[in-house]
Amino acid sequence: MARPAVFVDRDGTLNRDCPYCHDPKDLFVYVDTVKVLREYQSRGYYVFLVSNQSGLNRGYFTRKEMDDFNSALFSEMDAMGVHVDDAFICPHTPEEHCRCRKPEPGLVEQAMEKYDIDIPNSVYIGDRDDLDGDLARSFGMKFILVNH
Ligand SMILES: [Mg+2]
Repeated sequence: MARPAVFVDRDGTLNRDCPYCHDPKDLFVYVDTVKVLREYQSRGYYVFLVSNQSGLNRGYFTRKEMDDFNSALFSEMDAMGVHVDDAFICPHTPEEHCRCRKPEPGLVEQAMEKYDIDIPNSVYIGDRDDLDGDLARSFGMKFILVNH
């Protein structure tokens, strides 16, 4: 049976943004966002990370470095009672004109291919109205704008 999801942006939403964040030493988690996720997860929502990480294809960091940063983030979230069900990452630069760089729909489409998601009842949390907000609205999802 389809379940609603909460899609959540990473940099500036779950953790303090920094230029092409990839060093776990720079990780600072926003507790208020995690608490909102915990509320949704307790009501049966999936939790999916959706993130543009063009630093990958720009060569600023490796996939291993990104995975280590994400693992550090996810383990802090686990300690606060939130389990991230899956992560959908766009590695492309704008010049690559891919379908997955937000606000393009690809990351949400990838999640929909893998999971049975109740999109009309899903929610999106992000810090950029022009990227996250536009993506959420293109699927008719409720959008929560955070401002840290
Ligand atoms: Mg962001």
